Amino acid sequence: MKNWRYKLERFMIGRNGADQLSQAIVMFGMVLYVVYFISGEQFFNICSTAALFYALFRVFSKNVAARSKENAVYMRYIQFVKTKWEYRKTHKVFLCKKCGKIVRVPKGKGRIEVTCPVCRTSIIIKS
Ligand SMILES: [Zn+2]
Repeated sequence: MKNWRYKLERFMIGRNGADQLSQAIVMFGMVLYVVYFISGEQFFNICSTAALFYALFRVFSKNVAARSKENAVYMRYIQFVKTKWEYRKTHKVFLCKKCGKIVRVPKGKGRIEVTCPVCRTSIIIKS
């Protein structure tokens, strides 16, 4: 038992491992499999399998830099969606077109000029 764990740890050295994006892809693959199970449509079965293999590829990938970059893009998108949902009633949330910073402005102010707090770019927003 201990030997197995040691071998697995050795095998995973220098590999990406199960990051948030891989976990999300596995979840997505499972959802597709449920859809396949209910509908019996072979297309969903193929997509589900492809998603699971892609997740495996990401977990065992030795190109950690590229996988980290993909995961960072995914995490930033999740953060954006979370912020948008959290402030959905009071603020308009958007991404700065230049630096990608998540910016929020109060709703109901009409057309206003917003300056990005990071890169100082001016954006005209209808809130
Ligand atoms: Zn900016």
